[in-house]
Amino acid sequence: MDAGQDAHFQLMKRLLVIIPLSTILILLVLCVVLGVNLYEAKRELRALREQAAPAMAVGQASGAEEQSGELYTASGVNEFRRDVSDEDGAVPDAEDGIRKVYLTFDDGPSGNTGEILDILAEYDVKATFFVVGKEEEKYQPLYKRIVEEGHTLAMHSYSHKYNEIYQSRESYVEDLTKLQEFLYNTTGVWCRYCRFPGGSSNTVSRVDMHELIDYLEEQDMSYFDWNVSSGDASSAYISPDAIVRNSTARLQEFQEAIILLHDASDKDSTVEALPKLIEQIQAMEDTKILPITDDTEAIHHISND
Ligand code: ZN
Repeated sequence: MDAGQDAHFQLMKRLLVIIPLSTILILLVLCVVLGVNLYEAKRELRALREQAAPAMAVGQASGAEEQSGELYTASGVNEFRRDVSDEDGAVPDAEDGIRKVYLTFDDGPSGNTGEILDILAEYDVKATFFVVGKEEEKYQPLYKRIVEEGHTLAMHSYSHKYNEIYQSRESYVEDLTKLQEFLYNTTGVWCRYCRFPGGSSNTVSRVDMHELIDYLEEQDMSYFDWNVSSGDASSAYISPDAIVRNSTARLQEFQEAIILLHDASDKDSTVEALPKLIEQIQAMEDTKILPITDDTEAIHHISND
């Protein structure tokens, strides 16, 4: 081997080492860059979810998120439509060709319950009330009216205090049992339908929500989230028209729609929106407004399935 050949050979040998090494190095750098990007993206997603979920579900969002009722609910509908579309058959499947719409009122009874019940009676519509525990004398007839007038009496929470009920499985069970017994003593109805305060996808619970869902399943109770938010959870003012728009804008896309509304004394817009909302739903083809029953397909934001 002459000197030229030897140098050539040495170079080839070096290249054979350098090329794979640098390839590995480049791949490693790429992995790190992609990993950092993924981490950032996940963090942003989590932040966005935390912003969005309590805004719609808990109704305790900061003012900025709630300034526009339309904006507020447009995102809410999108969010939950994605969650429920494949699992819960919320996308039209024309099972019996009838679209089922459930009006659900959280947080009552309140100073507005009577009026809500009057409007429902006027339109001969049955709804579902996810109530809280209120011992004051003036509220007792309202629990009874809900039952007597054919609506579904369902459980929300006795105290509705997130920091108490979501402390542990025991505290949730204690609160719910207290409500169940209170409602039984008041109306004679043993309620089996629940709605978690903030929904099953709330981000405030200290207990894993799957544990609480487990409990409900053990007790043969069902929970119902929603796939349409009226936007009336906002603490800022929302016009009755915005509530109607929010509630109906995407209704055509669902074969089954559970609309989230609130029964609270500071939510007059909901009461004012109700006649128009009912009229618009009733004007839709092949659409029925129904109370939640055992036949209702539950909408779940999260589930144990
Ligand atoms: Zn509530």
